[in-house]
Amino acid sequence: MPDLTNLPTLSQTVQIHGLGANKKLGQHFLLDMNITDKIARLALPLDGFHIAEIGPGPGGLTRSLLKNGAGSVTVIEMDERFLVPLEDIKMASDGRLNIIHDDALKVHIQKELGSELPIKIAANLPYNVGTKMLVNWLTANPLFWSQAVLMFQKEVAERIVAKPGDASYGRLAILSQSVCTCRMAFDVPANCFSPPPKVDSAVVVLDVLPEDKRFKQLKLLGELTQAAFGQRRKMLRKSLKPYAKKYNLDLEDWLRHCGVDPTQRPEELSVEAFKRLTETN
Ligand code: SAH
Repeated sequence: MPDLTNLPTLSQTVQIHGLGANKKLGQHFLLDMNITDKIARLALPLDGFHIAEIGPGPGGLTRSLLKNGAGSVTVIEMDERFLVPLEDIKMASDGRLNIIHDDALKVHIQKELGSELPIKIAANLPYNVGTKMLVNWLTANPLFWSQAVLMFQKEVAERIVAKPGDASYGRLAILSQSVCTCRMAFDVPANCFSPPPKVDSAVVVLDVLPEDKRFKQLKLLGELTQAAFGQRRKMLRKSLKPYAKKYNLDLEDWLRHCGVDPTQRPEELSVEAFKRLTETN
């Protein structure tokens, strides 16, 4: 009976099944299980949760999640070439792995996983897809997950955890930090992937805030931050003019009432200030 310790190595798996990376699908594999173990351990404890792993590819992170105690993992992979090696992992993991072959953007994760256990998300995805999925997950109603451990291009990871005044501070930081506490865990240099991407990556951990601390008016917050950061270099009294008009707000009064100086630029405002501005709309 195979178990997780006597499966072929990830490099062997890729070789046996001829799993060349598909550039169109943005595939860059992590074949070093020291790294996938390190990522999986960021999501500890794993037991007692249902783990959704998006884009498992040859299954390095999948193995690490199972090895580090996950009692229930569901992977969603759209490239059918990976189904056979994922089935091998399933065979070796006493029914703890469930495989969905689909585009994760089309899958209703909560429906697939059910609500018996709280959900954690883990993923090393192509970057364009990753950001889109993160925004979907942050704005999901109801919010169906409690933690996400995600690999991003370093520059995107910085945009998630950025603080006011940072060059990368903007819409993604404000949305992410309105819903979660966000921290940068560690960098993963490009040469750790096969094939190596052009830029370095980093792993970010997002912990969903308790219900009463979580900001709910995300659509309006999105509209406000789009208006403000759409004209990043401009003072708020200029960039927010159309927004104030649309919502019948006296621009200067509204800003001052929220403790915002109309001559400030958006990157100077805290997440709290953006939340206040949205709420007093
Ligand atoms: N997580 C693996 C593979 C990374 S490559 C590793 O770390 O080695 C990215 C993986 O995401 C590929 O397997 C690719 O097929 C998959 N993928 C890309 N877009 C996807 C989507 N929309 N839904 C599901 N899987 C996707």
